[in-house]
Amino acid sequence: MSWTVRATVHQAPTPSELQTLHDVFITIDEAGLISSIEPHANVGDEADVTLGPDQRLLPGLVDTHIHAPQWPQLGTGLDLPLEEWLFVHTFPLEARFADLDFARDVWDDMVPALLRHGTTTAVYYGSAHLEATTALAEACIRYGQRAFVGRTAMDHPAGTPEWYRDVDAAAAVRDSRQSIEEIRALDSDLVQPIVTPRFIPACSDEALAGLGQLAAETDTLVQTHCSENDWEHGHVLERHGISDAASLDRFGLLRRGTVLAHGGLLGDDDLPLLAERGAGVAHCPLSNAYFGDAVFPARRAMTAGVHVGLGTDIAGGASPSVMFNAAHAVTSSRMLEDGVDPARPRSERGRADQRIDIVTAFHLATVGGAQLLGLPVGLLAVGRPFDAIAVATDGPGVHGARRWPEVDGPADDGVGDARIFEKIVRSTDASRIKRTWVQGTCVQDSSHD
Ligand SMILES: [Zn+2]
Repeated sequence: MSWTVRATVHQAPTPSELQTLHDVFITIDEAGLISSIEPHANVGDEADVTLGPDQRLLPGLVDTHIHAPQWPQLGTGLDLPLEEWLFVHTFPLEARFADLDFARDVWDDMVPALLRHGTTTAVYYGSAHLEATTALAEACIRYGQRAFVGRTAMDHPAGTPEWYRDVDAAAAVRDSRQSIEEIRALDSDLVQPIVTPRFIPACSDEALAGLGQLAAETDTLVQTHCSENDWEHGHVLERHGISDAASLDRFGLLRRGTVLAHGGLLGDDDLPLLAERGAGVAHCPLSNAYFGDAVFPARRAMTAGVHVGLGTDIAGGASPSVMFNAAHAVTSSRMLEDGVDPARPRSERGRADQRIDIVTAFHLATVGGAQLLGLPVGLLAVGRPFDAIAVATDGPGVHGARRWPEVDGPADDGVGDARIFEKIVRSTDASRIKRTWVQGTCVQDSSHD
């Protein structure tokens, strides 16, 4: 059955455009697609759902990089460098997902929580276990989240512990193939498999080549990590004598829609290669502050024609919120531009023209991620799926995004809209996301909390 919503919409169709649709009447058809958007004044009817003046409708958020089995350690253990953090904290936790009951408990906690944070599309690394990974896909379907779900392939004896690895390259490829088949057999329009070599240090060359072939044969997207930090970037240079991106390309893993997490140390030669292949970067600004050794130059990558989306990198990033990461992407771009070492003179401290603003960051959090994945979400427009969030700017228990008419101007003028939008992106947490819709279905409703 079709239904209607009346609201004021903020969205960012391009990196530099904030679009505000005042008091519009949106019709969503039974397939969950937007069939019309008109000024409410032209329609006049009562809508099925009306967002009051203290709420705004935004496109749902796209999180292009999440390690689902790291959910229980979110916010902890960030004191070690990546190569130690993996062995001390992360591999022992991920290994526990051999226990399917434990896995299901975690998915039942995580998926609704992320919907509450406004994540309507999620790109998940599962664990290395087939059963737990298929159960994650089932949980996404059950709770109504759009997702890519990948079984993590990892067979390299030097880059993985012997108690948590694929027994050999053949097993890594075979189980990845079976995971694709199991997830496709669920026959969901929302959830798709994704080929997931953990990263080059954790995979043998044979496995990497096999997984590249598997992606081509099964026409499946790929996700992995690329030039994440000095250790990982240096490992690939030493082992293969070429950059991480060039090496992934040699294995057939750099394809249209390949999601490369982090990319902070991507070189000038890598960016044109990514652009040519149609691969892109999951920019995880908060995680990079702990593990990346550098700030990913988002503006430079976008200028080079590379797709860029945002990622929380749960749990390398300590926040599950894409909105928080959007605000942080602005902050870290400013630190890249200004530099961070006060002992250096201002002229040598930073790197010119690196900043992004809040509109660009929100564009990356929505349209940018969607374009990287080849999904028609991220924007509320006729013919596109209705993936959206209702955000409270004022009201009981809501702090920080209130509109002050004396300061912010009238609600329906461009300046006032831009100010409210900035407040929303900089201060929205889960408690303010009152409803979440995916493909026209309400999958989270806390409007009466
Ligand atoms: Zn990661």
